[in-house]
Amino acid sequence: MKKRPIIALKPREGRKARAGAPWIFSNEVAMDAAAKALTPGQLVDVKGDDGQDFGTGYFNPKSLIAVRLLSRECGSAVDAAFFTQHLTRALKLRQTLYDKPFYRLVHAEGDGLPGLTIDRFGETLVLQITTAGMESLLTPLTMALETVLSPQSIVLRNDAPARSLEGLELYVRAEKGAMGRIAVEENGARYFADLGQGQKTGWYYDQRDNRAFIAGLAKGKSVLDAYSYTGGFGILAARAGASEVMCVDSSAPALTLVEESAAANKASIRAVKGDVFEELERLSAQKEVFDIVVADPPPFVKSKKDLEPGAKAYRKLARLGAAVTAKGGMLLLASCSHNIPADRFASECGAGILRTGRKASLIRAAGAGPDHPVHPMLPESAYLKSLVFALD
Ligand code: SAH
Repeated sequence: MKKRPIIALKPREGRKARAGAPWIFSNEVAMDAAAKALTPGQLVDVKGDDGQDFGTGYFNPKSLIAVRLLSRECGSAVDAAFFTQHLTRALKLRQTLYDKPFYRLVHAEGDGLPGLTIDRFGETLVLQITTAGMESLLTPLTMALETVLSPQSIVLRNDAPARSLEGLELYVRAEKGAMGRIAVEENGARYFADLGQGQKTGWYYDQRDNRAFIAGLAKGKSVLDAYSYTGGFGILAARAGASEVMCVDSSAPALTLVEESAAANKASIRAVKGDVFEELERLSAQKEVFDIVVADPPPFVKSKKDLEPGAKAYRKLARLGAAVTAKGGMLLLASCSHNIPADRFASECGAGILRTGRKASLIRAAGAGPDHPVHPMLPESAYLKSLVFALD
């Protein structure tokens, strides 16, 4: 094998990586002219200033996370066999967890494959690649997918804005087979997702367990699913016997899929297109309340600098959500912003609810389901927070 470039760490740097973390930051690297000249995504061997091997990774001189490690040994081959081994391990875990082939198959670092997520919808795989390093490994990756799963379709949803930071173009294409509308089976319900045009990969598997929890409370209850997207919470609640379900979202295509999923589940749902803040103000002015209110918004804290305004928006959402939650009802508030810490999110939610003068108890704090594993040394990458409050 051709000798790989070596990335050397500065003296005493790489403390977290030494303890097992898979990232090396740019300020930890001796960034000489040779390192700066490397192509983004290039495979490298990483060594400490004492000559210690940190392992094989891919390097991007322009990224804050300079190296994402793929193996703990220098000189490891990153080929179809490497991906086959990782995909097999990831698949085995999901097969232990679920009896149907609908799940997140690969969750980046949590599955040892930084820069890659794969959502599985039966015979269709939707890939999202966010780094130059993973993009340059697409060929061995797809070869391994053939070996491990031989799927009918492979869709590349490579349109995440984060790609621009890595100097990658944004595109969506079917690498194999077709893309478009597809059925999703989850918690015994049947939903529809649009893989080519929907948000992210077309479906949010991360809320699976939280949807099931809400559905478990929904029999005979009225439910408001705010920021419903394609109806993940609302459809399941309706199937579980909710007396009334209203889904609110600003996206017309998402609401069309809500209506089609409702029909497929013989569920009755009111799909309302609108802005959630405005809709909540309107409902509360009319003194309309629901036994269960779910608010699962898009990220309000997109980057660290948005923390204060984002936190304020979560507090306002909690206040407005509580205002339309019936006496003795439940309010689920979620955040998919990894830039707001869990305790800060919880305290903003609490403050917002208590502003309404209601008494409340936090009865459940959860995150993404187990098909979204977290690398043990990157606890901060657990982005989803999903809190359920019982209101007096
Ligand atoms: N709860 C959903 C996921 C929600 S994703 C599920 O279980 O799958 C966030 C949703 O918020 C998206 O569908 C987006 O269209 C919607 N959205 C974003 N801004 C909005 C706004 N101001 N008012 C209403 N919906 C909004």
